[in-house]
Amino acid sequence: MFDFKREPRNLRCFLCGSNDLNIADLGKKLIDSSNFYNQNEKPPRFSYQLTVCRKCNHVEIKSSNPCWLSTRKHTFITYNEPSDYFPLIANLIRSIDIDFSDASIHAFSYKDFNLVDYLCEEIGISSVRKGDHAQTSDLWLPTIDTQGKMSEPIALKNFLGEIELNNKRHTIVLLSRFFDHASNIQLIKTMINLTSKSVHLIFDINDYQKLFYSSTLEYLWNERRNLFVKQEIEQLVKQLGTRCLAFAYESQTTSPTIFGLISNLVTNQVEVSPNNDFKFPKPNVIEHLELLRDKWAKILPLGSKLGIIGASHKGISLAQFVLSDNVLYSLHDDKEVLMGKTPPVDPPLGFHKFSDFDFSDYSHISITTTKTIATKIVPKVRASGFNGKILNFDCQILN
Ligand SMILES: [Zn+2]
Repeated sequence: MFDFKREPRNLRCFLCGSNDLNIADLGKKLIDSSNFYNQNEKPPRFSYQLTVCRKCNHVEIKSSNPCWLSTRKHTFITYNEPSDYFPLIANLIRSIDIDFSDASIHAFSYKDFNLVDYLCEEIGISSVRKGDHAQTSDLWLPTIDTQGKMSEPIALKNFLGEIELNNKRHTIVLLSRFFDHASNIQLIKTMINLTSKSVHLIFDINDYQKLFYSSTLEYLWNERRNLFVKQEIEQLVKQLGTRCLAFAYESQTTSPTIFGLISNLVTNQVEVSPNNDFKFPKPNVIEHLELLRDKWAKILPLGSKLGIIGASHKGISLAQFVLSDNVLYSLHDDKEVLMGKTPPVDPPLGFHKFSDFDFSDYSHISITTTKTIATKIVPKVRASGFNGKILNFDCQILN
């Protein structure tokens, strides 16, 4: 059993190592947002902080949970990933001059499976490995030998073993939503350094630079640890002596995305400025969080009753990071897999299904689902007789 208390807290910037950080406390004893547990279990709790480096502006969520990759706590939780830019990724792979009949394609997590299928058909690669190495965050805890020496997690050893055993000349690895969940620099370096062995990495990540200046904070949750912007990824890649092509993608259906290719065979090397000169506009994410906390505090006078509809990470983040401790709220979700589980937050008014719930004595409802689902929920809530305020995660009125 890992002794979490022995793990020293690292309050230095993940990227530049500076300890000059702006810090917002997110909570001292939080349960990971995907940890819907059984009633008789005692789930681990961790402290979380949102930090912005004053030196290089890197944004992080720091946690006392020592796992190297905060994927999810249980495999019954799954997340949908965007797919509308798959054709662009196929073009990106075609841009490297390799013999695709002597190449294999590997998924890193279940999130890559749809893209693997698409690329196999589009590019004609027949050697395919669809393993879910991301699995759950517990498999990404560092291992400790009998002398107490820490080494890499089992999940990383398994993944590297698969790449090592590959007998094709080229290896294409898909790393959907990897970089922001990685909380250990050795893990990121190990992945990027694979490119020296004819490995080509395809990645995607939220476009955080765009999100920092948007009107929402719903991208904040405790499994996203390093909120990399495009230049930071390009810079990391360059420092490790390889090459990267990264592009911003605007989608109508998903949040803005950065995707790209990391490979020694990238022909069009991206020029990035050296570390000391690199600055992007200061992210205002801490100020934004403080404003959002104030907004919710003002809109919920004493005695308000709030129903939070949607128990995925947004609903949990709202309860954990934004609402003050004395808010009377309940949490609602109709997902079958969550039935009978205890949520990672402790709603004073309980955890219930949404359908058939009587909200008539509630004053406020927050819908934290996607916009498309929210537009279907609003009329149902109104039809049930609820006549209070309906809001989204960002405390904006939904009609
Ligand atoms: Zn920094």
